[in-house]
Parts: sequence; structure tokens; C-alpha cells
Amino acid sequence: MGALIAGNWKMNGLTADLAELDAIADSLAAEPAAAEALVCPPATLLAAAAKRLKGRAGVGGQTCHPNEKGAHTGELSADMLKDAGAAYVIVGHSERRADCGEGDADVKARAEAALRAGLRPIVAVGETLEEREAGRVVERLLEQLAGSLPDAAAIDVAYEPVWAIGTGRTPSLADIGEAHAAIRTALAERFGGAAADIRVLYGGSVKPENAAEILAVDGVGGALVGGASLKAADFLAIVRAA
Ligand code: PEP
Repeated sequence: MGALIAGNWKMNGLTADLAELDAIADSLAAEPAAAEALVCPPATLLAAAAKRLKGRAGVGGQTCHPNEKGAHTGELSADMLKDAGAAYVIVGHSERRADCGEGDADVKARAEAALRAGLRPIVAVGETLEEREAGRVVERLLEQLAGSLPDAAAIDVAYEPVWAIGTGRTPSLADIGEAHAAIRTALAERFGGAAADIRVLYGGSVKPENAAEILAVDGVGGALVGGASLKAADFLAIVRAA
């Protein structure tokens, strides 16, 4: 499987910003990239984003509800995201874990819901600065994986150190390699040979300047990109660095 470069727009993006997607689609049409590109806009723009990207890049949701439908005002099911054109959905992003109190079991339920709807979940895990300083990175990642992974292997995983998100700080390349190796071992133990198709993305302050060296680290199968995914030129530079 080729690398996956996923842009997470978070709570950013109005109709006018869809012009960035035209630039991405045009560039990838003129010169296809080796990596798979994915944009996860706010749900309000999902259908329009899918149309504007013309299949040159995929679209994904930023979370989904564990249930298929029902009395959950304001929520979106995985089926709804799929219906709007999504192929992927991020689950367990640290901002959801922190802002919405989503724990591992909840993240797992969302990932299972995504799989039922035919979406590929990108399951996000990562340590806080406090956990890193206490030397608990691998322990924490294994704990989160054990609780958050669904029972099927049709997933990708994002390693996102919480302290690196939106801060401009990144772990050393050796630290990224160590975390990815631990995650890959856990995935192989859990899913056996099927784990080979799971991409483990790195996320946290990836930008055009550091993308190539991060993407070259052993075990890194792509990137989850926040801030730098909002501008087509930066996002494309990262896609082309893979
Ligand atoms: C993210 O939101 O998943 C992320 C990695 O953000 P940023 O690239 O801005 O650090």
C-alpha cells in the first residue's frame, strides 16, 4: 500500500475555501503523486469537497457516532459520512478525546461503526507531554491501541503525540521510529499477517520543511496533517514528499 497523506481541517473551512481543493485536484491531475491524498473537511463541506476533488484525492470525516441512526441531535453517523462521499473517518483524535471525553472504548465503538458502514477508520493514538516525560510513551500507546482498535484490520492508525499537535514541535526522528516500531509490533500481534496493510501515519506539526525526513522513517506509512493541510501548496508539498 502506498503512503497516505491525510489533511485534517478540524473546525476550519467555509465554502470559499473549497478553492484550495480545486488547486489540489488540478495539481494531482497534471502530475499524479505516489502517495494517496485525503482531505477531512468539516462535515458541512464533505459532499462539496468530494465533488471538487474529482477523485484525485479522497475525502474523510473527522469523527462518527457509534450508532447507525437515532435520537442523537447534532451527531453524524458513519453511513451519513459515506453517503456524503467519505471513504475514511478519523476516530480518537486527541482533540475529541480531550474536548468530548471520548475514551478508548468509545473510540473502538466509533471505529466499529465506521467499518460497518464501509469506511476505513484512521484510529488516532498518542501520548501527552506528561506521559512522555514520565517515560511512558510505549506503555501509553499500547494501552490506547488495546482499547481503541476495532476487531478487523481494515484500518489505518495515526501516531500523534498530543504535545506535537499544532505546536510546531516534533519528536526526534529516532523517537518517531521507536513509537512506530512499537505500534507495528502491537498491530502484528493483534492482526497477524493482515497488519501488513495497515498504514501507521505520523501526525503532529508536519509541514513541507520536515515532511520528507519524517516520511522516510522506518514504519511511517504516511502523515496526518492539521494546520499545513489548509493551504493547497503546503498540503501538495507534503503529498509529494512521500
Ligand atoms: C492534527 O490535527 O491531527 C495535527 C497533526 O495537527 P497539526 O499538523 O496542525 O499539528
